[in-house]
Amino acid sequence: MKGLHIDQFTPDYCPEDKNFTLADYEGEQPRWCKGCGDFAILTALEKVLATNKTPANELVCVSGIGCSSRFPYYLKTFGFHGVHGRALPISTGVNLANPKLKVVTIMGDGDCFSIGLGHWIHALRYNPNLLVLVFDNEIYGLTKKQTSPTTPLGTSTRTTPDGPYLPPLNPLKLIMGATGVSFVAQAATWMPAHLTASIQKGFEHQGLSFIRVLQRCPMFSPQAFGDGGKQRELFQFITDPEGIRVDPSLAQVAGQITHDPRDLRAAQELANSSDHSENPSPLGLLFQDPSLASYDQIRLGHLPSLSPKEKGALLMKKLKSYGS
Ligand code: SF4
Repeated sequence: MKGLHIDQFTPDYCPEDKNFTLADYEGEQPRWCKGCGDFAILTALEKVLATNKTPANELVCVSGIGCSSRFPYYLKTFGFHGVHGRALPISTGVNLANPKLKVVTIMGDGDCFSIGLGHWIHALRYNPNLLVLVFDNEIYGLTKKQTSPTTPLGTSTRTTPDGPYLPPLNPLKLIMGATGVSFVAQAATWMPAHLTASIQKGFEHQGLSFIRVLQRCPMFSPQAFGDGGKQRELFQFITDPEGIRVDPSLAQVAGQITHDPRDLRAAQELANSSDHSENPSPLGLLFQDPSLASYDQIRLGHLPSLSPKEKGALLMKKLKSYGS
């Protein structure tokens, strides 16, 4: 696990008075390719952290494997570069161990929707208090252009040169069919203000905030999402007073649709009909149910209030029971 150095904290450290800037969260120099959409996501998240005056030592960034999963190195917070597809169980464990920490989970489309799919569905059902960002560029970038679950038909890749044999998975359709889902949004890296507003909305939510971020990989999927949003007819912004703000200047880059994010059935229908090819894909808040209890609230609410000494004794008793 990547950690912070003790000298990053000063005795007079006081978040209330401190003026946070992006520099407070900047870790190592990113090594993504030039023009990669990951840069926009990193900046958007840093802006949200600064706006919310989040102390770096109160945040844990957990990732799986992939280009996106280098994120923990580039944030000056606690971090855990995990195992392929396993970022969500690690994140859930961090959340349960210390619910006071803010947990941001970073995954790619192959990471989350393929090897990690089982963990994804169950994490949605458990609804732990996590901000989950899935960078979807419709390709495996780190392993140099292999077909991922969201690769569109007709896309030549190194594993399927004539294009995938199967139609792509629609993550929004799948997620809106999961029991216990409490927050679903979609944003795109080429609309940074809307992306930042989407992350801010997810940051404020209690429970699992799932944000699918459409992201171009200039190296291996430059054509993705209509060459990175150049085709206006492929997208539509969701507008609702309770949703994510859409700047009027964005009217040129996508259409608009009114949708109530509290309406589960309407969100399911919207997700079912979005596939970028025949129907515009929605950008914004598809669904939110703030009344759902998060998993840490359910689990920790059932625990008796114990002192650290009593917790230690209970743990030792449990461990000894395995050896007897
Ligand atoms: Fe970004 Fe693609 Fe390069 Fe990976 S291969 S860093 S996703 S541009």
